Amino acid sequence: MSGKDDTMFEEISDAWELVVGLEVHTELKTTTKLFCGCSNQFGSEPNTNICPVCLGLPGSLPVLNRHAVELSIRVGLALNCTVQASLFHRKNYFYPDMPKDYQISQYDLPLNIRGHLVLPSGHRVGIERAHMEEDTGKSSHLGGSGRISSASASLIDYNRSGVPLVEIVSAPDIHTPEQAREYVSELRSVLVAVGASDGKMEEGSLRVDANVSVRPRGSTELRTRCEIKNLNSLRSLGRAIAHEANRHIALYESGESPTQQTRFWDESGQVTGALRTKEEANDYRYFPEPDLVPLAPSQEWIQSIRDTLPELPQQRREWVMDLCGEATTNDRIETAISDELYPFLVATLRSGLSPQRVVARTSNELAAELPLPNYFSTERFVEICSLEERGELTPTQVKTLLTEATHDDAPISELIARLGLVAISADSLAEIVNSVIEESPAEWTRFVEGEQQLRGFLVGKIMKASKGKADGKVVGEMLVERVSAAKKVG
Ligand SMILES: [Zn+2]
Repeated sequence: MSGKDDTMFEEISDAWELVVGLEVHTELKTTTKLFCGCSNQFGSEPNTNICPVCLGLPGSLPVLNRHAVELSIRVGLALNCTVQASLFHRKNYFYPDMPKDYQISQYDLPLNIRGHLVLPSGHRVGIERAHMEEDTGKSSHLGGSGRISSASASLIDYNRSGVPLVEIVSAPDIHTPEQAREYVSELRSVLVAVGASDGKMEEGSLRVDANVSVRPRGSTELRTRCEIKNLNSLRSLGRAIAHEANRHIALYESGESPTQQTRFWDESGQVTGALRTKEEANDYRYFPEPDLVPLAPSQEWIQSIRDTLPELPQQRREWVMDLCGEATTNDRIETAISDELYPFLVATLRSGLSPQRVVARTSNELAAELPLPNYFSTERFVEICSLEERGELTPTQVKTLLTEATHDDAPISELIARLGLVAISADSLAEIVNSVIEESPAEWTRFVEGEQQLRGFLVGKIMKASKGKADGKVVGEMLVERVSAAKKVG
């Protein structure tokens, strides 16, 4: 298996259908934790953002963070869920990074239920629930592979303990590793768009558990599933699912069955391994959290949150596709509608510039300069794109200017002067074309006679003679004109 291509997975036999449901935990972008005033800041010195509440000290009492509830409702509404009156429960289990030995979560009455997410491919994935809960602390195992079994010592950081989470549980509607990646990627865009999450998988603010089973194609039964915990990149997600599916298929085909288990993904070995036998809900001894009242957001509050929802990725996508038609690739559109770039795309489209061109500049050149400095305003981008639209600069010159304008806050006119970016006049370009034809009579004759591969040679010479100021497209058009003129004369 190639280590480079993120979209390479083990093949899954057509005789079997993959059935996957995903549980995505997202850390909410609040200032403080879910039940105390401690800072919710990633990357602080270990055990500095802590207090009696998030350390679970006796006598401390939780106070629910209103902003966390608001963000959770935003997530629910963006996923087309019903927001309902809900209840916090204690989920009891022992884990060294969880100081209370229970986690405050939601059980039979989650805040958001029954929604769905439509993927860019058009596939619809049901959302069973999106509930609130608190995060645990984080343990690091020193020595060995980084897993506890081979560790020489373990360290615990409680900064993450009590950080607000929303757990989004999908229906088992995902049937390929590609769909799983597409779902997480779209969900991530939605979470970032509504301001609930920063979407940083590498910092653990989005963590995915995959429930994987297989069934003979054509069957509708749900067979034994295994849960793969903590898939923290889209790459591991696709690979782990494909690998786990094949493990199940191999067991069934040899007359055995998989056991319901919680498993982990071993990135170095590219295999899944058993972690523990899967718990059932009754193992957790859920009971209502006695220190918190039921959470019942008013219809007015829910409506006021709905009124402030931004444009979601699907709406952005449809708008840009309508403007560009078939001419732009989906990959380009996906890049251009990303949160960082979308304001630039909107500004250029609203100022009436050619949609295909600005989608190209946004998704290629501007995307290459991320993260953009604060002085690179949408007006600056519109100004640069307009120069190309009016033919005052060639595409090559515009690309040079864009790079400079994202690294230097000088006015655009000053940058153009400094870089000597002047589009070449039609007359001087015609002279250059003539002299190149004169210098290479043999190549020119063969080109006129139809040897198309000489086009690159001629265009290259002309571009070089113009010191990069000529527009490659215009040069191409001039060559076509010269060929038909030469044929007429001949
Ligand atoms: Zn605290």
